[in-house]
Amino acid sequence: MNIDVLKFGGTSMADHTTWKKVLHIISQYEYPVVVVSATARTTRQLLQSASLAARKKTNDAHAIVADIEHRHVGIIEDFLAENESSKNELIKESCIKHIQSTIGFLKKLLSYIEKQGEVDPAMQDAVLSIGEQISSYLLAQCGLATGQLTQHVEARKIIKTDNEYGKANPNLGLITQHAGALETMLENGFTPIIGGFYGEGTDKNITTLGFEGSDYTASLIGGAIEAQSIEIWTDVSGVYTSDPRFIPDARPISELSYLDATEMAYFGARVLHPSTLKPAQEKNIPVHVKNMFQPQDPGTRIIRKVEHKKDVLAISFKKDLTILTVSAYETLMGYSFLTKVFQVLEKYRLPVDAVNTTEASVSIALANHEKLDTLTDEFIELGSTSLTSGKGLISVIGCNHEKAKQVIKHISDTQPHIHTDLISFSRDKRILNIVLNDEYLVEAAQQIHTSCF
Ligand code: ADP
Ligand code: ASP
Ligand code: MG
Repeated sequence: MNIDVLKFGGTSMADHTTWKKVLHIISQYEYPVVVVSATARTTRQLLQSASLAARKKTNDAHAIVADIEHRHVGIIEDFLAENESSKNELIKESCIKHIQSTIGFLKKLLSYIEKQGEVDPAMQDAVLSIGEQISSYLLAQCGLATGQLTQHVEARKIIKTDNEYGKANPNLGLITQHAGALETMLENGFTPIIGGFYGEGTDKNITTLGFEGSDYTASLIGGAIEAQSIEIWTDVSGVYTSDPRFIPDARPISELSYLDATEMAYFGARVLHPSTLKPAQEKNIPVHVKNMFQPQDPGTRIIRKVEHKKDVLAISFKKDLTILTVSAYETLMGYSFLTKVFQVLEKYRLPVDAVNTTEASVSIALANHEKLDTLTDEFIELGSTSLTSGKGLISVIGCNHEKAKQVIKHISDTQPHIHTDLISFSRDKRILNIVLNDEYLVEAAQQIHTSCF
């Protein structure tokens, strides 16, 4: 059986017209397994509702819940009105029942959060999963209205993880074991539709795979069932040379290697969740990024090996970083100093984006995190520390040494007002990282993009 795993993101799931497009795309595949995100805005609204509940702003939290409920009922009503079928009454009834029971569960979670006065990580994951719980069920029901044999599959039954809330690690063995059920459904003529982003930890609580995690769900399933392809359907025509929303000249890249695409995602190209390519790479499954709204566009194919002779492949960027600088009390601490600094970062599980070292100090760019303030205490015995927030990172991916030198020179010649905090180049990985103030991020990325493409 040649299975394709298709993933549709938030913008693809925005309203009843895009749902119709999604169902049409699915209908063109022989054996599709479908993974969907929450509808546009829903995850952010859920996050907000939890934070309002923790601050005892009950009415505001409930207004958001009502908006989510209303929007989903609206999608169903509009969809069914435009796609008449004899089953529509039953479909509507079952959708409304599902929305009500899921929203009822959400309200219970919010009142618990309100009592606690804080959002603990397990509660947060349960709240955030609501969007996908609803969207996947409703889309599967809408498929029935268009005569497709779509069937909802509860993600918790397939995506088994550890208990690391907010960024749970998948248990590949268990996922493979449970994903067999999807093949049986396909054999029987059904198309499974699963909510992305969340799963179930070892203690049966809901966990999430991190923001944008639906891409990861798709590739975990693709890897588990050894699909022939994993397709990420989104709102742009593939992976571009940079974020097309901010860099108007960015253009789609036709082919990328798993490694280059992973670096791009890790350094901020939000079109893919950074872990997405790992399960695909392990099983050598091509990942195709396609545009929902321009399905005829070729998109980007991500495969094992791509020969290219380009000086630069792409430019990723991300904001909201902090620079942590630790200066050793004793200049003779040597390499044990660095080891100790990185041990602390490991203990707190904080991934490092860029590093610069001198003999007696180290500056590290990290994503903003509430843990950062407590982190400084950890360095008390090593040296003095400082934290500078409001930073951004530009990463020039697949960049050769000559080009890296040119890019650095270009920025200082043409944008003298842009002060860079930290520059590092890895010849081995061909990545040039530049840390600078957030306010200059897009401007500098644009300049670099123009100079490279
Ligand atoms: P989805 O809801 O389908 O998961 P996302 O918003 O997560 O969609 O990802 C698609 C968006 O990623 C695009 O609209 C684009 O603005 C952004 N993006 C950032 N970097 C890139 C890039 N290098 N190539 C393509 N898109 C990018
Ligand atoms: N809905 C989740 C998010 O917004 C997961 C996803 O869309 O991939 O992060
Ligand atoms: Mg996404």
